[in-house]
Amino acid sequence: MGKKVEFGLPIIGPEEKQAVLDVLSQPVLVHGPKAVEFEQKFGAYTGAPNVTSVSSCTAGLHLIYFHLGLTKGDEVIVPAQTHNATAHAVELCGAKPVFVDAEIQTGNIDISLVERAITPRTKAISLVHYLGMPVDVPQLMAIGAKHGIPVIEDCALAMGTYLNGKHAGTLGDFGAFSFYPVKHMTTAEGGMVTATKQSDIDAIKRKKAFGVDRTVNERSIPGVYDVTMLGFNYRMSEIHAALGVVQLTRLNGFLEARKKNYAALARGLSQIPEVTLLQTERPGAQCSWYCLSAVLSPKLSAKRADIIDSLKGAGIGTSVYYPHPVPYLKYYKEKYGFKGTEFPNAARLSYDSIAFPVGPHLNESDMATIVEGLKSALTKVK
Ligand SMILES: *Cc1c(COP(=O)(O)O)cnc(C)c1O
Repeated sequence: MGKKVEFGLPIIGPEEKQAVLDVLSQPVLVHGPKAVEFEQKFGAYTGAPNVTSVSSCTAGLHLIYFHLGLTKGDEVIVPAQTHNATAHAVELCGAKPVFVDAEIQTGNIDISLVERAITPRTKAISLVHYLGMPVDVPQLMAIGAKHGIPVIEDCALAMGTYLNGKHAGTLGDFGAFSFYPVKHMTTAEGGMVTATKQSDIDAIKRKKAFGVDRTVNERSIPGVYDVTMLGFNYRMSEIHAALGVVQLTRLNGFLEARKKNYAALARGLSQIPEVTLLQTERPGAQCSWYCLSAVLSPKLSAKRADIIDSLKGAGIGTSVYYPHPVPYLKYYKEKYGFKGTEFPNAARLSYDSIAFPVGPHLNESDMATIVEGLKSALTKVK
């Protein structure tokens, strides 16, 4: 058997290793210049005017809702087809996610269904740029403005995602990014929060650090501060930030490789009539090519496990985005009594698709391996 085609692999080189060693060779491990440098460079890359680093995307989303004062009785519009963190952040504040189905072409939230899900208790609209394909955020912003509620972008898969030349995370009122190992770039664990208003980011900075009234660097007498509000410890360490600074310099190369791999794989799979690819092109949209999601024809959906198994036997790693629509995960299904028929598009994407890798750890010959592997898997299950 040839080289294994891994689904996801972080790319850590000598520069990242040196950057971590440099941090460990001096005493400042938190509250230092690396987090500030990473924030500045991230802001310059994305064009986001106000940013703050956090310990993960989930922490970032939780902070945003905590900052908005979300509480029991409140509701937030949440896409049914996303990572559970998009909904968990709402639940963690005691509020209720109101799920909206996906559009089948892209997996993004079906904007035509949003307005009817809004009630007097709705406090925010959230979205995820599904697998890096930009949501039409301006349309959601118009709905938000009409109801006087903010729009929150889950940008965990959206480094390199643009709409009309604007980077994801700068389109809504708030954004949260992830630097988990298999995302577009990594800090091991880590995230970034963006906000249109500086006052929001200033408050979120306090809340990510216990709710203290002044940072370590703002204290005239060391150790003396007051606490003016509730807060977490959701900071990013200097070690993580140092990784982020290096990874950011390599991001354009990573994105180029993804785009090339995606195009090669899409070309190869277009010869296979049993699969439909998600739409990754629309006017003004630039996708970040997180992975390639292939939706199986309905008559093959019962064979998905066998197909994945056969690919695995050929050394081809795959994944499923996402294993269930969030409302059908046990926690949500039992809590809110969903029957399993409410979100047909999200269900089709979760249960009938296979996600293939296009990351920068792979090349065009790996894409050819995937195409051959899928062809042979389909002959075996027929
Ligand atoms: C990975 C992911 C998250 C969680 O990110 P963490 O940094 O691991 O907290 C949230 N939302 C989406 C859409 C994701 O894919």
